[in-house]
Amino acid sequence: TQSPTSETAPVVRAPRGAQRTARGWIQEAAKRMLMNNLDPEVAEHPGELVVYGGRGKAARNWEAFHRIVETLDRLENDETLLIQSGKPVAVLKTHEWAPRVLIANSNLVPHWANWETFDRLDRAGLMMYGQMTAGSWIYIGTQGIVQGTYETFASAGKKHFGGSLKGTVTVTAGLGGMGGAQPLAVKLAGGVSITIEVDPTRIQKRLDTRYLDEVADGLEDAIARAERYKSEGVARSIGLLGNAAELVPRLVEIGYTPDLVTDQTSAHDPMWGYIPILAPDEDAGKLRAERPEVYRERAYAAMAGHVRAILELQKRGAVAFDYGNNLRQRAFEAGVENAFDYPGFVPAFIRDSFCEGRGPFRWVALSGDPGDIRATDRALLDLFPGDERLQSWLTYAADQIAFQGLPARICWLGYKERDRAALLFNEMVADGRLKAPVVIGRDHLDAGSVASPYRETEAMKDGSDAVSDWALLNFGVGIASGAAWMSFHHGGGVGLGFSQHAGLVAVADGTPEAAQRLSRCLVNDPGMGVVRHADAGYDLALDTARERGLDLPSLGI
Ligand code: NAD
Repeated sequence: TQSPTSETAPVVRAPRGAQRTARGWIQEAAKRMLMNNLDPEVAEHPGELVVYGGRGKAARNWEAFHRIVETLDRLENDETLLIQSGKPVAVLKTHEWAPRVLIANSNLVPHWANWETFDRLDRAGLMMYGQMTAGSWIYIGTQGIVQGTYETFASAGKKHFGGSLKGTVTVTAGLGGMGGAQPLAVKLAGGVSITIEVDPTRIQKRLDTRYLDEVADGLEDAIARAERYKSEGVARSIGLLGNAAELVPRLVEIGYTPDLVTDQTSAHDPMWGYIPILAPDEDAGKLRAERPEVYRERAYAAMAGHVRAILELQKRGAVAFDYGNNLRQRAFEAGVENAFDYPGFVPAFIRDSFCEGRGPFRWVALSGDPGDIRATDRALLDLFPGDERLQSWLTYAADQIAFQGLPARICWLGYKERDRAALLFNEMVADGRLKAPVVIGRDHLDAGSVASPYRETEAMKDGSDAVSDWALLNFGVGIASGAAWMSFHHGGGVGLGFSQHAGLVAVADGTPEAAQRLSRCLVNDPGMGVVRHADAGYDLALDTARERGLDLPSLGI
């Protein structure tokens, strides 16, 4: 923690290097990752402890943050720290193989699992919103989602446009922590994008970090630029300042139909995440503070108009999909009965990957040295020479992705692949090819750890979309397998009442003990994705289970 900018909000940056102050590398890693989540290069609003995704926080308040850091520094190698919605509540004697930290964020008994209850408890200082990787201390900046976003847009290109997005225009909105990955991902998939964003500072941030190429001067100019690039077959990203609830319906009015349309504003949170249409002299923050009910009503009305326009563009030929922010549900609540006429991105483009346990695998160099990530990039290229998507992603990422905070990387790997990568990293720490231990985790856009009926588990083959036993089993499996820290969250991505999900983090510190933990965690965690989809009856998951040796008694496998 460095020079405080005010009494309550310090400027936080994780320590770097191979020296630790905590009593073990897992505790040191948890501390550095919590701090890294709040690094101004990483977090969207670090002063308020907000990492990304509306109000997704890393700790409940600054006092809790400091207590967590102190506790991690004194935590023994046979103790476990409990975090209840961002506050450290107990240190318990456990054993060496147990996780050092267990985290539960934003969980409410189902009958009360709504924003009204949460907001009341949040105001009373009893809870915080953990989003997905914010409160589980494994956020790595916008890069974290680029690969997943790229997978989605690349699949859309494959499915609808003969291989890639070359010669197509995508219209979307939201240049926040996650949404900011969209322009780069569309470009990587070969296409042109127009991304609408209401906050000019978000546009500037994406320009500065090279996620966005240029900014248009109004809607007509954006379309003109996009059409020019489209006809030239050039991949390029265009930012557009404005409110999506005004500009997407405007596309309908002027008769412009893009090839794809989606959205990644923080619609999951109608009070804090989605900005209603405002008069030029109106301020969103003031309206929210002074007349919250009016704010909420206008946000809902804006989302309804936004979705009606997306539905109309779909009718006119655009490929429309929901990008995991629950915009359709908000519009449905506001009276748009056919809001779900366009699909979510998981059933549309991602489910096959989930059936193979394929999903996000991220790692962070605790040395702080970008050279460590370069070394791991090269090692993975050698380890998986036949995986073309991985080869092209890693080659591109190594060259183009700006690091935020501790150097990190993400790629998608499947069942019986992630453990191989993790064990290789552990060897590289042991023999000095890497300068310090590596943290390995994933986000919660994942095959087997999430129950989210409008996102990860939308339209499951057996209708089991809302069954969250699987997420709880995943949480338990991570603990039983010796994760470094595990988390269980409610409401990430799509908002309170709509999801439950678990997060896993492991640490490669070069020891034989770490190798044992890694080989269990990183087989069983993606394995849960295969199990979940095999149980739901997907042939690809059943084949994967048979081929890769899972033991599934109810399926005779
Ligand atoms: P964020 O809160 O950091 O950013 C949201 C952005 O939307 C902000 O920059 C805000 O100014 C802008 N915005 C809000 N209302 C707007 C409007 N009416 N018009 C134009 N811009 C508007 O959130 P984030 O981390 O970028 O996440 C965005 C959403 O995507 C969240 O709902 C999140 O849960 C969801 N999400 C989906 C995935 C996925 O894989 N599908 C992954 C992560 C996040």
